[in-house]
Amino acid sequence: MPIKILDSQTAERIAAGEVIEDPASVVKELVENSLDAGANQIEISVTQGGKRQIKVTDNGSGIAPSELVPAFSRFATSKLSSLEDLEDITSLGFRGEALPSIAAVSRVTLTSRRKEDFSAMRLRLEGGAGGPPFEVGAPEGTEVVVEDLFYNTPGRLKFLRGAGREMARISSLITNLALAHPECAFTLVSEKRTVLRTTGDGSLLHAIGALYGNEAAAAMLPLRRRDPAGEILLSGFLSAPHFSRASRRWITIVVNGRVIRSPLLAGALERAYGGMLGRQRHPVAVLLLQVPPALLDINVHPAKSEIRFHRPELFNELVFRAARAVLHSPPGWEAGPSWNEEQQRGRKQEGRLQQELLLKPDQLPEAIRGEGPVPPAGDLPSPGEGWEAGRASRAASESGASYSAAEANRGCRLIGQFLYSYLVAQRGEELLLIDQHAAHERVLYHALLSSEPGQRSSQLTVPLNLELPPAWRERFTEIRPFLDEAGFKLEPFGDNSYILRGVPFSVREVGEAGIYALLEELLQEEPAPGEEEREQVLKTIACHRAVKARQPLARAEAEQLLQDWEKTPGAAFCPHGRPTVLRFHRRELDRGFQRKGGRR
Ligand code: ADP
Ligand code: MG
Repeated sequence: MPIKILDSQTAERIAAGEVIEDPASVVKELVENSLDAGANQIEISVTQGGKRQIKVTDNGSGIAPSELVPAFSRFATSKLSSLEDLEDITSLGFRGEALPSIAAVSRVTLTSRRKEDFSAMRLRLEGGAGGPPFEVGAPEGTEVVVEDLFYNTPGRLKFLRGAGREMARISSLITNLALAHPECAFTLVSEKRTVLRTTGDGSLLHAIGALYGNEAAAAMLPLRRRDPAGEILLSGFLSAPHFSRASRRWITIVVNGRVIRSPLLAGALERAYGGMLGRQRHPVAVLLLQVPPALLDINVHPAKSEIRFHRPELFNELVFRAARAVLHSPPGWEAGPSWNEEQQRGRKQEGRLQQELLLKPDQLPEAIRGEGPVPPAGDLPSPGEGWEAGRASRAASESGASYSAAEANRGCRLIGQFLYSYLVAQRGEELLLIDQHAAHERVLYHALLSSEPGQRSSQLTVPLNLELPPAWRERFTEIRPFLDEAGFKLEPFGDNSYILRGVPFSVREVGEAGIYALLEELLQEEPAPGEEEREQVLKTIACHRAVKARQPLARAEAEQLLQDWEKTPGAAFCPHGRPTVLRFHRRELDRGFQRKGGRR
């Protein structure tokens, strides 16, 4: 066959195949354009798994009317002008291929309006041809509707999967993008039903909770570490070993805002767990890497889902060490660089390190933000009331003793109880405030999950007679096995009556009213499917049996709680995903008091 130059339409369709393989790749390109346009609200709506229609609406910068047509020509991009720019590209797109590729193989309608324009412009293309743009009314931002993907390339159309499987790819893609961009609110709608939704409040932990559920969020341990040269910052979350999944799909790796596939880094993460995960089990994790662009080559894959690290060993090592430090130190403690290492690195790091050990204000429990209920003044314990909080420290200063290295390795030391609600403790050079209720809840929940059925039961000295309202009967029968498992010893006594002989954990403070309150809450919960229902019930029981806020604790009790909490996997969060601890490093206090890091 003689050689001939392909006509432009044929060439366009062939080239489109490189970027656009399926509905999910259309969604990916459109959503990345929205993120590049600075959107913080993106809604994706699909019908028939995206085969019939994909609609992406954003509130980003919009496109200038004169640029609507050029945006659809090949290699047209506003994000890059020369090869040198590629060295430090920060946008997700840069090849200028997505819009022309999508347009070549579908019917596209793009509507866009910038803030400064009075009306929006709309452009319709079929198989890449159409126009010109015309004026319409529309809100600020951009909306792209892609219909009948591959209608003009039957060969490709044939290879599309069923709507359900195409939809699964799209949800998994949006899950990853939403984890990579917690500052953006994502909504995914399929056949008019909302499938996923994140709030875009900037908290990665909240995004994890919204996408994977509270149970997953509660199992997350925070991670934060720099490479020795201080150039690469790794942050994010990984699951405590007790929480695992059957595939690697739950590991999300994000480099400079871009979700990538990296068997290398996923492998490094899993090695850090050593034998702690069961066979064929994988962790849930979101690893965020901030890397100077010069250390990467992102232009190795048309869909940019793979990148090349110039020094892979550096990344491998960073992920492994960071994860191992978190998993092998007592729960909730990420091992940052030691105080000395940091001083050697000099003051230039100071600003950057400032925020590292603390949760963001929006992750703080309400009471600390000052928005929660404040106990009436009369209820507040006066300082020093309760146990001999001051005595130990007075003795220490009189004998001239000071903080020693040996003390640093000893684990948490209790200092006192604040407002009868928070335990104040010291560990190494950190001051800890521990929410006693949340911490106890985590301890009890873990104990319930991991012990033999009924093992946690303690006998009541005087059995209680419980009479259940008939309306409770049906749901009660459903949750009865979980109550037995947790350690409630209930014996039927007539029609709707039971004798309660044992309860989970200590017997202190068990009154009829308390038991009814617990049962009522359990019975009113929406039943969750299967295993989740068991976890839901055990969580509620843990919550009820845990010490409350504003409850005075004897010193021994508080010390016991602190010890148990330290040993519990996932200790940094309560079962509902709220933090149990706030930590303040000595260097933050020194900075606050404007000390120069000296000891005097
Ligand atoms: P690239 O993203 O690689 O630049 P695309 O073909 O995806 O190439 O998009 C072409 C251009 O169209 C972009 O560079 C951008 O200027 C503009 N554009 C596309 N989508 C949007 C959007 N949602 N909001 C604002 N501008 C957009
Ligand atoms: Mg793009």
